[in-house]
Amino acid sequence: MINLRVLLLILLCVSRVSAALPEESRTLGGIALLPLPEYAPVNAQALYMDMPVPIISTTNGRTAVVGIPLTASVGQASIQLIATDFVDSLDFSVGNKDYPEQRITLKDTSKVTPNEVELARYAREAAEQKAVYKTFTPTIGAWPRFQMPIVGEFSSPFGLKRFFNGEARDPHSGLDIAAAEGKTVYAPADGKIAQTGDYFFNGQTVMIDHGQGIISMLCHLSKISVVMGQTIQRGEAIGKVGHTGRATGPHLHWGLSINNARVNPLLVASPKP
Ligand SMILES: [Zn+2]
Repeated sequence: MINLRVLLLILLCVSRVSAALPEESRTLGGIALLPLPEYAPVNAQALYMDMPVPIISTTNGRTAVVGIPLTASVGQASIQLIATDFVDSLDFSVGNKDYPEQRITLKDTSKVTPNEVELARYAREAAEQKAVYKTFTPTIGAWPRFQMPIVGEFSSPFGLKRFFNGEARDPHSGLDIAAAEGKTVYAPADGKIAQTGDYFFNGQTVMIDHGQGIISMLCHLSKISVVMGQTIQRGEAIGKVGHTGRATGPHLHWGLSINNARVNPLLVASPKP
């Protein structure tokens, strides 16, 4: 006979894990949670802007977790549900979000205006990173539980509109957390090391595939302590804080991508440890 208290504990744990979903924010750089209709086939796939979208099973059914790019159009949007002999779509609305502006002056202008060789290098590296962002590893369909990869002050928020030496650059696609050089950086969630590299802008970088197209990128490291293909668990060390690449001081840049859309990492992890 199973003890009633043990049974209750098991039920609590199961419901807590299966109910876990990220915070919803149907805005640029946010996440839309779209419940799948019950009539959708079990093997239905969801697509948003031609990219496969993670489908998460909860006690209330299946939910498509849609990453909304900072560059998306404000207004009506939709995802497609596709299975054998089945096509449907779910509409939702994307709201605007006014992210703050920052103007930065960098002394090392070579990192602001790359030369031809550097531009070619950057193009290769961007393609390598994009290929990882576009991978879709099927999983059992539970939402990966996240934690902050490091504790520290947020030095630069997600979505910040940046100007380097007066020139407009891409908005900040991740969250910067200030921390001392050499401090340990932890995997924000379970996954597999999908890429490691030493990049022109991002410096020493680790990319983690959390499954279903949910990808973390951790940049500017002084040391990488994992290898490609390695399976990793939430809270395991992946490297040390540094200021490699384009960084004015030691900090960790954590980028989070869902269906190839960079979204606000604070929607999946609470800043409190
Ligand atoms: Zn950053």
